[in-house]
Amino acid sequence: MPELPEVETIKRDLEKILTGAILKKIIPYNLRFLEKNNLSLQEFKSLEGERLNSFLRKGKFLALLFKERALILHLGLTGSLLLNSKNSSPSPHNIFSLIFDQGELLFRDPRKFGKVFLLSMDDLSTFLNHLGVDALELTFEELKKILQGHRGRVKNLLLNQRIIAGLGNIYTDELLFRAKISPFRRGMELSEEEIYRLYQEMQSLLAEAIALRGSSIRDYVDSEGKKGRFQEKHLVYGKSGTPCPICQTILKRTIIAQRGTTYCPNCQK
Ligand SMILES: [Zn+2]
Repeated sequence: MPELPEVETIKRDLEKILTGAILKKIIPYNLRFLEKNNLSLQEFKSLEGERLNSFLRKGKFLALLFKERALILHLGLTGSLLLNSKNSSPSPHNIFSLIFDQGELLFRDPRKFGKVFLLSMDDLSTFLNHLGVDALELTFEELKKILQGHRGRVKNLLLNQRIIAGLGNIYTDELLFRAKISPFRRGMELSEEEIYRLYQEMQSLLAEAIALRGSSIRDYVDSEGKKGRFQEKHLVYGKSGTPCPICQTILKRTIIAQRGTTYCPNCQK
């Protein structure tokens, strides 16, 4: 699933091309998808003619900000936003296209777990306030307060979008390994030193992943249809049963928060 680094990569690319563009036309390909998201075609179409002023990302959500409303997108498990895609042939994976005067943005989603909704600016603020602090904006003091204030397992806390927004299963597994913290530990049990390590590793992991344009697991591609390269740097995610890259102990897999979790039982304390 696209996580913070993937959505940030898409946002930065789209920003360069589409900021200030006029939305000329909306072409819906999958009406059932819109219906499932409670977005009526009439309401959606009412955005036609408006200028796209800017983009905003919080956690894994991307918002396209128009004059008085915001179109919010979540890529779910397999969604992608393709700019001027040459692959415009009819496909059951196409959800809709936004035709701007500066380019065409196609939303595709084979598994259809993505989301789209249109909010007023007031509702956008309320929506964003329900999400936790964005992982890129988080300060050490905020992380310390979050972890010390929760009894939950650190993996659950990092995955909980209402607490910290942006991290999913890939980056939490990689992060806990790099910080040498067991996914079973509870937030409250972590020492200040461990929290500091976790904080520093989080910032460097995200920066590195964004620099390499995200991780391509399953279908993730950027707005040009290209894969990211950060999956080549993964140390543990999806590698259970293989030796730890640091100590050679066999990496284990367990389920935490209903999510497969890979960790090194030796390195991660
Ligand atoms: Zn190890």
